[in-house]
Amino acid sequence: MNVLVINCGSSSLKFQLMNVDTEKILASGICDRIGIEGSVLSYKDTQGKKYEYKEAMPNHTKAIEMVLESLVSKECGVISSLEEIRAIGHRVVHGGEFFKESVLINENVINRIKECSDLAPLHNPAHLMGIEACHIKMPNTPMVAVFDTAFHQTMPPKAYIYGVPYEWYQKHKVRRYGFHGTSHKYVSQKTAEFLGLDYHNSKIIVCHLGNGSSISAIKNGECVDTSMGLTPLEGLIMGTRSGDLDPAILEYISKREDLDIQSLLNILNKKSGVLGISGLSSDFRDLLDADLAGNERAKLARTAFAYRVMKYVGAYCAAMNGVDAVSFCAGVGENAKFIRGMIVKQLEFLGVELDEEANNICGKEAIISTPNSKVKICVIPTNEELVIARDTKTIVSQLKL
Ligand code: ADP
Repeated sequence: MNVLVINCGSSSLKFQLMNVDTEKILASGICDRIGIEGSVLSYKDTQGKKYEYKEAMPNHTKAIEMVLESLVSKECGVISSLEEIRAIGHRVVHGGEFFKESVLINENVINRIKECSDLAPLHNPAHLMGIEACHIKMPNTPMVAVFDTAFHQTMPPKAYIYGVPYEWYQKHKVRRYGFHGTSHKYVSQKTAEFLGLDYHNSKIIVCHLGNGSSISAIKNGECVDTSMGLTPLEGLIMGTRSGDLDPAILEYISKREDLDIQSLLNILNKKSGVLGISGLSSDFRDLLDADLAGNERAKLARTAFAYRVMKYVGAYCAAMNGVDAVSFCAGVGENAKFIRGMIVKQLEFLGVELDEEANNICGKEAIISTPNSKVKICVIPTNEELVIARDTKTIVSQLKL
């Protein structure tokens, strides 16, 4: 069965066509600058050959049209007709408290995603545009929504409630939701499989460290806590996001720098994190180079980042009353051995021993702790598209034809 996985942003549309039975990627790519001058479709076929098509894409419908045309085209096509696409799986960032798992998209689901738009104003409206565009172009193809928030819905109230008036939760849905759920689910399951643990009788911490970063505590296969909150701004120090901070800083800085709340949030989302601390880059490769060249602020950004991750790992060990394994994933987690090393070396109190040699690996499943280590430390590459494709297959397979 072929599933088209779609991840829509406000001006971009990422896609991957996968044969879910063999889990082989048939084609993938991205439409960039939708609605902006200079739109371009970058496309990769089954053999990895790259193509680029520059054509005006005033909206997502045009973008999807170009993707579908490419998939069946003579030049770079990988299927002979669109009939070969059995279903479409959409990544949706916010499902609020409505969705605890992936669902078949219908009118009711679309309305719920709309209702959650206030909670994710940058993401949900873009996903809805993608869903509508696909529906216009392939009206008879079933579509499934896979939510970033769904896996975290098992958190107990004590973990998701904020210390604010309870009415904010009742009236305005203010609570911790958490994000990257698809990744946390995939990596925790993979960790258990890789280590031969019983997933339903295990304590796993997943550190998803990318440009956006979050960390989760997964006990017996269920998320019991996670670092992102009402929005993805909370928790770890990230590429450009601040993570946790004293909320009183907002008023203090707004007066001194004469900034309104919108400008402040823009800075906290886009100009903070390791970029803000270093004043240099949000990319950990640049920060490593600068640190090695003696740049003190790059060093501070890297150490503050690692320190925050280590603090959360400690907190989540306490939350679960122990831990069997800690796994690293996403761009930084899978590739940045020095950052992993800085974090793991501060976990000695757990009986953790880093295997320096094993820690040299990049982007591959591996155990990077020594055989004597009381807690296993792993690198497990994440694969959110695969989860979306698998969930889509499961739901579509249950449909009566
Ligand atoms: P996103 O949150 O955008 O999905 P990714 O998971 O793709 O992010 O991670 C992107 C980040 O991973 C980059 O900004 C960079 O800091 C980091 N990264 C990627 N490759 C390496 C590497 N080889 N060494 C260190 N950091 C890396």
